[in-house]
Order: sequence, then C-alpha cells, then structure tokens
Amino acid sequence: MRISDILRSKGDQVVTVTPDTTVARLLAVLAEHRIGAVVVSAGGTGVDGIVSERDVVRALAARGAAVLAETVAAILTADVRTVEPHAELADVERLMTEHRFRHVPVVTGGVLHGIVSIGDVVKNRIDELEAEKSELTGYITGDRF
Ligand code: AMP
Repeated sequence: MRISDILRSKGDQVVTVTPDTTVARLLAVLAEHRIGAVVVSAGGTGVDGIVSERDVVRALAARGAAVLAETVAAILTADVRTVEPHAELADVERLMTEHRFRHVPVVTGGVLHGIVSIGDVVKNRIDELEAEKSELTGYITGDRF
C-alpha cells in the first residue's frame, strides 16, 4: 500500500501553525483537533518544522510553565523527515520505528500534501490483516475460491 492510498481515504488536511504561535496556543490547537503534533509552516504550504506534545512535555520539564509564553519556534524540530505520496506504507513504518516519532508529513516539491500518523499506520495494518483473514477463512470454508 502506498501513502497516496492512505491520503485518499483520510484526506489531505494538515493542521499547521506559524513559528510565532505561542506554546499555550499550540496546546489549544492540539486539544481542539485531538491530535498529537502539528506542522510548523510560516506560509501554510511549506514545512519549517514539526512540533509535538512530546516537545512541550520536554520543555515544561526543563524550563517550567514559562514555556507556555514562548513561541513554538523555541521548541520545534527543524530537521523534519518527510515522505512523498508514492512512498510505501512499510517505508513510513520503518522511518517511525527507526527515529521514534509518530508523525510523518507528506511533501512533494516542498509543498505539504498530508500527514501520516502512527494511528493511520496501525489502522491500515489492521484493515489489511482483516481482509487477509476473511480471504483465508473464505478459502478454508469454501465460500471463496
Ligand atoms: P512524536 O512521536 O511524533 O510525537 O514526536 C517525537 C519527537 O520527534 C518530537 O521531538 C517531534 O518534534 C519529533 N518529530 C515528530 N515527527 C517528526 C518527523 N517527521 N521528522 C522529524 N522529527 C519529528
């Protein structure tokens, strides 16, 4: 399965914030959309960074509540790993496992086309396993040939 197949079913919406957004506002955005990370983009189409709930937790542990008034520019990850839509789901799984992150933006030519989260990966794996199970059950019981 390719990443473009996943985006076709989940859509290409990506929640972004600008680098000057405060951490307090970022938390409101994460809560409002029930997500764990947002892409940081000054113009709304490119990727200038990514910031996840883990970055906020680390910064809070290191510097305390004053972090809430800082901007996301102070806590984001600038070296973002991205994939192109034609990448295989297995490549994204490998990337997430190797680098221990749960979000991968989908980008072509510097333009954001979607985001894949660990939740999307798990959902698609379960769907694939269910389909395979149903095929095999049908084969064994003779409902399918
Ligand atoms: P996550 O597991 O996605 O919440 O992120 C864990 C850490 O990895 C945080 O410091 C994020 O800023 C960073 N991170 C998340 N996604 C990516 C990515 N695609 N490329 C690089 N860093 C990332």
